Amino acid sequence: MASRVIPVDPFDLVVFGGTGDLARRKILPALFRRYVAGQIEGDVRLIGAARSEMDATAYREMVREAILEFGGDEAGRKTELAAFLKMLDYVTLDAKGTQGWADLAAKMRTDRICAFYFSVAPSLFGDLAKRLHKHGMADDESRIVVEKPFGRDLETARALNRTLARHFHEGQIYRIDHYLGKETVQNLMAIRFGNVLFEPLWNSQYVDHIQITVAESVGVGGRGDYYDSSGAMRDMVQNHMMQLLCLIAMEPPAKFEPDAVRDEKLKVIRALDPVEPENVVRGQYEGGDAQPGYRAQVENADSLTESFVALKAHISNWRWAGTPFYLRTGKRLKERASEIAVMFKDAPHSIFGADAGRHHNILTIRLQPNEGIELGVTIKEPGPGGMRLIDVPLDMTFAEALGPEEADFPDAYERLIMDVIRGNQTLFMRGDEVEAAWAWTDPVIAEWDAQSDAPLPYASGSSGPDDALMLMHRDGRRWREIRP
Ligand code: NAD
Repeated sequence: MASRVIPVDPFDLVVFGGTGDLARRKILPALFRRYVAGQIEGDVRLIGAARSEMDATAYREMVREAILEFGGDEAGRKTELAAFLKMLDYVTLDAKGTQGWADLAAKMRTDRICAFYFSVAPSLFGDLAKRLHKHGMADDESRIVVEKPFGRDLETARALNRTLARHFHEGQIYRIDHYLGKETVQNLMAIRFGNVLFEPLWNSQYVDHIQITVAESVGVGGRGDYYDSSGAMRDMVQNHMMQLLCLIAMEPPAKFEPDAVRDEKLKVIRALDPVEPENVVRGQYEGGDAQPGYRAQVENADSLTESFVALKAHISNWRWAGTPFYLRTGKRLKERASEIAVMFKDAPHSIFGADAGRHHNILTIRLQPNEGIELGVTIKEPGPGGMRLIDVPLDMTFAEALGPEEADFPDAYERLIMDVIRGNQTLFMRGDEVEAAWAWTDPVIAEWDAQSDAPLPYASGSSGPDDALMLMHRDGRRWREIRP
């Protein structure tokens, strides 16, 4: 049985940068899928606003092509697509100038929710906020959605928070981190706080360590120049991985409400110890198999930007003292696979003798591909021959456990955009969280900047530099294999 979809209230959504890559690949196809699902209906208007000179007809044609290319299975629904395109409008507008603003203001209606998606370069966020205010579109009910990156360090993030705060209060600002919109990430909270089974064990007494891996098999591709000014620490660790770590480590919030959840996440970030230089490894992929290496894909042939980071983090609080969190992320690794693995301790005493070996439970939360949850348990190896133990997975791949229809859940952008319209900020980062995350990553980046050492090279298709393996080996542990 498909889950019940409750339509959202009527709204006007302006997508600044509505002709850009993110709008075409993610935002507009996501809106179309929500339309097909019946969540968007009635008198809704979606207004693209960007620099390109075009009229609404040309914009609809552009969006039609984008949906056919990126809309997934729903793209074939011609009748719905034609109806959806009628909701679209377009304004040629300059974020830094005067062009288009009066037109846009004239189109907005006051009897509904008005949301503004900033899908433009971050250098324009302040300009957009200022002009929305100037042209009377920043009333108390309006909301803005801000894409990543949110600053490039603590100072720039603070400045951006201050700029936005001049025109919008915190309750109107939706800082998007699409990892928080993933089904399994939310399931992580359901598992932790909806079952009695796990929470009593969710601490340093029973958890040996936690591994968070976000591995990509592709390189920087056409985004080389953007990536080169960022690197894995800024692009992945400060935001997505930090959010995952927070959800794993936080105390139970009193309620599943925006500030209750975000307060708990913030406490985790603030309890993180500074990362010691010996606990962080950075790498950069080399070429191989006719694929170019990192430096051949970016303008700066001597680039010192990391395409891989592995680090060991400690959370100094009552729950987690003594349990390390190992994080690794990188491009051009052997597989595209992201997961969180909670590695429980061995049973305190083995009654089965040395031959049975030592075993421990592992709870794995797979983010991609094959979203699902797996619990590794120890059982007796079937058959005669004495008490030999083996580890087997209790696997709950959502598509198998729930049936294909139930497991066909909205992608992260679909869910998050609907949350903006519903006014639910639980899955969006608050300004103080973002700042605290930068305060933790800044010293690591500053240390790298102060050195002139190159990141460690690693082979394309590998698991990263050997030093990342050593980070674990020296603690008597090892990374899980990167596999889908
Ligand atoms: P893009 O370069 O493809 O598109 C930029 C858009 O901004 C275009 O529509 C352009 O017309 C518009 N624009 C540029 N200058 C303007 C101005 N002065 N006034 C009005 N409009 C102007 O960029 P993108 O890849 O779509 O990225 C948009 C934002 O989303 C960026 O902040 C980026 O960091 C973020 N983001 C992108 C991706 C992605 O996969 N593309 C992923 C995550 C975050």
